[in-house]
Amino acid sequence: MKDIILTGDRPTGNLHLGHYVGSIKNRLNFQNQYDYEKFYIMIADTQALTDNHDNVDKVKNNIIQVAIDYISAGIDPNKVNIFIQSMVPELSEITTYFMNLVSVARLQRNPTIKDEIKQRNFDKSIPIGFLNYPVSQAADILAFQTTIVPVGEDQLPMIEQTREIVNSFNFTYKPKQEVFKFPKAIIPEKKICQRLPGLDGKLKMSKSAGNAIYLCDDTETVKQKIMSAYTDPNHIHVQDPGKIEGNIVFSYLDAFCEDRHFQQYLPEFQNLEDLKNKYKHGGVGDVKIKLFLFKIIEELLTPIREKRKECLENINEIYKLLFKNSEDASKDARKTLIKMKEAMGIDYKKLLK
Ligand code: ATP
Ligand code: MG
Repeated sequence: MKDIILTGDRPTGNLHLGHYVGSIKNRLNFQNQYDYEKFYIMIADTQALTDNHDNVDKVKNNIIQVAIDYISAGIDPNKVNIFIQSMVPELSEITTYFMNLVSVARLQRNPTIKDEIKQRNFDKSIPIGFLNYPVSQAADILAFQTTIVPVGEDQLPMIEQTREIVNSFNFTYKPKQEVFKFPKAIIPEKKICQRLPGLDGKLKMSKSAGNAIYLCDDTETVKQKIMSAYTDPNHIHVQDPGKIEGNIVFSYLDAFCEDRHFQQYLPEFQNLEDLKNKYKHGGVGDVKIKLFLFKIIEELLTPIREKRKECLENINEIYKLLFKNSEDASKDARKTLIKMKEAMGIDYKKLLK
């Protein structure tokens, strides 16, 4: 049996460079080079509502934005099923049954949830839906018999939780036939891409933290963001020795720069190691490294912007595609839900004589 791939994003804003290196790049590799059974990308609006319940318009408007970002970045809607989470009601039903298999304490130990509770000031009052989103995410993954989940590092605890739910389901209901597969997370090889930091140099780059370079940012915005990125506050004059650790420009160069970029845009250095060494010893200014990074990011974003223009002319078609795909996804998830209810012994229609 070939692999089934599922991944997704919350429609809380446009996609950014963190998404690109953390997940989209791996998605493109799978899409273009891998012989899979099925590939789903879910726009997680139900999950986005767990911390935006009073901001429905934001979530609603960003569904199409995220879909456009996918297609502009190279996701091919003919090869991948892009669907909307809330249009697959089976996912909510599966979530309900899973909620009995997980304790509140277990959810509160989830390190990503812990961070996100702090970030959202939910310490005093956590919405149940928010605390529960790892369970709902497990339902999303398991409903489609997913075996591979390409994600950033912050999602590893969610995959672990998903695997625990499979164990707990099997232990509790002892299904005669397999109902759920154990999914595996695929994270980027490069450490820096597993959790790309934000422009502020503190948190991970994230839509909610306002510290991101978006795939749809125009040239001027990208330039302005890069020029104001956090570097080394003690590196004031060109001749001063500079620090690499915590220097966001070097973090982004680690993530995006290839040797060929030096020949193209900065031939006075051989490669990133060479540039880092000279920066450390003094003699390389921040403006130089920032302009170099800007050129690399521009090279990446220019074709994405072009494709985005095309998408903006076909919004209706994209909506139709999302709705049709959601129907297909719903049919697929229903098959799992039926198997699940059978294993649990709650397929009551069987009681009819
Ligand atoms: P929000 O702030 O609303 O949670 P987000 O920017 O964290 O948004 P998500 O939609 O939560 O984005 O994440 C979607 C996918 O992108 C996940 O697989 C996540 O691991 C990955 N991802 C998000 N931010 C980064 C990042 N900075 N570095 C690497 N991967 C990331
Ligand atoms: Mg997130």
